[in-house]
Amino acid sequence: MYTTRPAEFTYHRPTNVEEAVALLADLDEARPLAGGHSLLPAMKIRFSTPLALVDLGSIHGLDRIERDGDGIQIGALSTHASVAASQVVRDDCPMLAEAADQIGDPQVRNRGTIGGSLAHADPGADYPTVVKALGVTVTTVGPDGSRQIAADDFFTGIFTTALEPAELVTSVRVPVTQSGTGGAYLKHKHPASGYAVAAVAAVVSVDGGTCSRARVVIGGVTGVPAEAREAAASLEGSPVSDEAIAAASAQVAGALGDAIGDPYASAEYRTHLATVLARRALTAAFERAGA
Ligand code: FAD
Repeated sequence: MYTTRPAEFTYHRPTNVEEAVALLADLDEARPLAGGHSLLPAMKIRFSTPLALVDLGSIHGLDRIERDGDGIQIGALSTHASVAASQVVRDDCPMLAEAADQIGDPQVRNRGTIGGSLAHADPGADYPTVVKALGVTVTTVGPDGSRQIAADDFFTGIFTTALEPAELVTSVRVPVTQSGTGGAYLKHKHPASGYAVAAVAAVVSVDGGTCSRARVVIGGVTGVPAEAREAAASLEGSPVSDEAIAAASAQVAGALGDAIGDPYASAEYRTHLATVLARRALTAAFERAGA
């Protein structure tokens, strides 16, 4: 029977990470609750039926955003709106602020969190694509202690991550964008939800007019964000030009062999969008890098 009410669950509100992890480990079928913007809709249609919710909202300090050496530490409970508005993020990693500002609508941005988005690993979500392109490190705490997981190893499948049972994302460390490096995130969004039908995050470094490093990651098209390695490699070591960018963008499709289609957008259409967005994102990224 179709219902819009969640199944019964118990509600727990720990005040520190250790208590939250202990509750998640001890309670049967317990799930962490952050902004609730993905979990609660899934519970209402009984797609997800946890027996216990462990609300992270009272854990002090999990929403902190601060500069830490050559990185920025962003607490897991930081909302998309706070990431988009953070002066530290805007100054030191503008592409991340640009991406956060494109998530959903104001209600979603004011409730949804970076930790929840990464843990949820929706193929149409914005952060997974961006954190992979930026080389972010995810910090977790679980029953066996703390781990640092590279974004490259974090997303393992559709709605699936490297998180172990009862393990929480506590923060992410984002490298500061150095001089001579630029990034851009562009997406073609679904008109109803804002989720990516296709998206591209491009990060490039330039040295004397030559591309010294490039990373191009495609979101929304495959189950996990796809790195277009051949496209990036074709740019590295070559002078920056419109022709080189066009040639690299044409190679993006090669990284999308397992593209997903649905009634809204076929796999072919998503792949085409990714190629177009790659060209635009690379052009913007090179401009920002000073090329
Ligand atoms: P929750 O819903 O609370 O949790 C999601 C999942 O992560 C659950 O399984 C939960 O147990 C787990 N979890 C939460 N926090 C942690 C943690 N710290 N450690 C471990 N596990 C955790 N997203 C986009 O990227 N782009 C969009 O355009 C977009 N549009 C949206 C439009 C609508 C109408 C809605 C409702 C959502 C949209 N979203 C979009 C999703 C939104 O960004 C969510 O906020 C996000 O996916 C989940 O974050 P949350 O904090 O709400 O997590």
